[in-house]
Amino acid sequence: MIALKNTDNEIFNFLKALFTEKRAKIVIITHENPDGDAIGSSLGLAEVLNNAGHDIDVIVPNLYPEFLKWFTSDVKICIYDINKKEAQHIFSHADILICLDFNTPERAAKIGRHIKEFRGTKIMIDHHPYPEQFCDFIISETEYSSTAELVYRLIEKAGLRSFINYASAEALFTGIMTDTGSFSHNISRPGPFLAAAELMEWGIDTEKIQSKVYHNFSINRMKLLGYCLNKKMDVLPEYRTAVINISQKELKEYNFKPGDTEGFVNYPLSINNIIFSALFIEKKDVVKASFRSKGNFPVNDFSKKYFGGGGHLNAAGGESTLTLAETVEYFKKLLIEYKHQLDL
Ligand code: 5GP
Ligand code: MN
Repeated sequence: MIALKNTDNEIFNFLKALFTEKRAKIVIITHENPDGDAIGSSLGLAEVLNNAGHDIDVIVPNLYPEFLKWFTSDVKICIYDINKKEAQHIFSHADILICLDFNTPERAAKIGRHIKEFRGTKIMIDHHPYPEQFCDFIISETEYSSTAELVYRLIEKAGLRSFINYASAEALFTGIMTDTGSFSHNISRPGPFLAAAELMEWGIDTEKIQSKVYHNFSINRMKLLGYCLNKKMDVLPEYRTAVINISQKELKEYNFKPGDTEGFVNYPLSINNIIFSALFIEKKDVVKASFRSKGNFPVNDFSKKYFGGGGHLNAAGGESTLTLAETVEYFKKLLIEYKHQLDL
């Protein structure tokens, strides 16, 4: 069994007892703008706990992209923004709250308040650095590629492997696949490959999963990508950096739907000698920032310091309250400070 370095055995024993001894009402929640790992790990764990006889609900803060709406799992996902009443009812009746794929209440946005007010047992299962202490039990394993990979190992450790089904394996595989960019990053350990290979034992169709997630662009989304790369990408070879910005007006022109810009930030890293990529998207009140890097440049620290965000070494996000144009200028100025780390 693969070791979980940061988690005491006591916690596993507690979880094992919690999940195997008596039936519980459990609510699983994840972060704002849920991605493949957030949805995949939530559905994967929900299926298993359902099969183990528990009463499970999944709540996400806001809408998630169409390319994550094809899962075999019939676990219903309650979207807080749309079904506040139902979500509030679930929070007030649950015994256990499981926070997946985030480690600060702020990342759960509007749900954050319900985490604070929750009176039952709170458990965090996550793989981001710098966890905050807002849960009773914290499983924070930053070496893991994805929360889905971590959930898979925890399911095993808690003695629940026999409750994994096809739908659960499919969801967990998707979480690992999306958080590693289809097994291209966050894969310095054998763990994600091993977990993915083992999940195939449940007969999942990995080609179908690839297709559903990655070959599912709308025409508008594809054209928006083309526009961003052709007209909106600024390449700064002296800093080995590229930056893309998109305004609300431009998004409207391409009939933007949630998730349409997902993955855009990765493209500039395919340019020879570019190691740092930034994407700034104008939202209603703020500019959303996404950062990606190759190698050692820590975009999570960069984002934390200048954009109030965080994430992983090579993938992070944050926000800016400046205008879109000002944000891009601010970003370019910051590069000067990092020249020694970026220019090699
Ligand atoms: P993305 O750029 O795809 O939105 O996010 C990349 C990574 O950064 C993910 O691991 C995500 O959890 C994290 N992240 C994105 N936005 C934020 C943010 O505003 N705050 C923090 N702390 N992390 C973020
Ligand atoms: Mn994740």
